[in-house]
Amino acid sequence: MGLSKTIWSNPTEYIRTVRPENPVLFFSPAVLQAAARRFIDGFPGMVTYAVKTNPSEVVIENLSAAGIRGFDVASPGEMRLIKRLAPDAAMHYNNPVRARAEIAVAVELGVKSYSVDSASELEKLIDLVPADGCEITVRFKLPVAGAAYNFGAKFGATVELSSQLLKRVAEAGFIPSLTFHPGTQCTDPAAWEAYIRAAADIAREAGVTIARLNVGGGFPNHRLQAVVPQIDETFALIDRVATDAFGDTRPILVCEPGRGLCGDAFTHIAKVKAVRDGSHVFLNDGVYGALAELPLVGIIDRIEVVDGVGAKRKGDLASRIVFGPTCDSVDRIPGELMLADDIAEGDYLVIHGMGAYSVATNTRFNGFGELTIATVLSLKV
Ligand SMILES: *Cc1c(COP(=O)(O)O)cnc(C)c1O
Repeated sequence: MGLSKTIWSNPTEYIRTVRPENPVLFFSPAVLQAAARRFIDGFPGMVTYAVKTNPSEVVIENLSAAGIRGFDVASPGEMRLIKRLAPDAAMHYNNPVRARAEIAVAVELGVKSYSVDSASELEKLIDLVPADGCEITVRFKLPVAGAAYNFGAKFGATVELSSQLLKRVAEAGFIPSLTFHPGTQCTDPAAWEAYIRAAADIAREAGVTIARLNVGGGFPNHRLQAVVPQIDETFALIDRVATDAFGDTRPILVCEPGRGLCGDAFTHIAKVKAVRDGSHVFLNDGVYGALAELPLVGIIDRIEVVDGVGAKRKGDLASRIVFGPTCDSVDRIPGELMLADDIAEGDYLVIHGMGAYSVATNTRFNGFGELTIATVLSLKV
């Protein structure tokens, strides 16, 4: 009976009815669409979605329905996904290293925007992509603190190289633009200021007027109860600094959030398999599953414990070491979690803000990882 239902009122109703033995991610289309509208209404430019963050079809479809018209794609697989689900949307191919065969797929699928961070990869694009009406964005990096994870460790040209690349883009007849990624879960809006000012310097040094500036992703989601993301303040800062830095050559702005759009639209539950000898908590999901990001980006403290029928545990908070289900000793949530001290076998740990880099990186290591997505009207437990 209950199983034929496709939209649930909330996670509690699902837990009470299904009593799931495997991890579940609850998805709220309403929360996702509200996040999309907040970006579309507040960001002073074009809002695109970084597909890798959560490529679930329901996410792409709901973002499209909410008015997202562009997607940041990194592979032929992501391009085909967008072609199928949002055929009229723009695709920005912003993975700066590509095989020639991958570039051929992009050209075939009509991609008109590519990012690049090296001279050799730029020459590949110039060889293989028709310049007419096509944009190449040079990706640069700065040594900036403030993000949970350093995106500049892999991609991004130095400021000096970027102005040379930008010049070459313009000479080759492509539309010249710039892009950066301040680092994911970037809670310090000042990071964008430094990058936008550097972009203006790069363009000036190159003697090139850029068409667009893509200010990346990195917008945080709500992970710590005490740190509410300052999204609107960040939009206002980006708008003010873009005008200040570029004056009357201000480019069209683009952003490509992943986490900031989908992070808070999902709540995760994992079942407590055991409270070993009354102390260590063992879950049926862990760092090889949907919780893969916690050791990389930092813990989420928006956590609740409910019993086997969904009623909240009300005990005092006590610190616990929490392990995942696999036999690997790294399969542990970092640090210790503050959990209700009456937590027991058969309970569920409820973690909010789990929409980003969860389904996308879930593995089947050790035979675990069977993850269900269930749609709910409300994420409240
Ligand atoms: C991953 C990625 C994003 C999205 O990052 P978030 O921190 O999730 O917003 C945006 N742009 C590029 C180029 C990326 O690689």
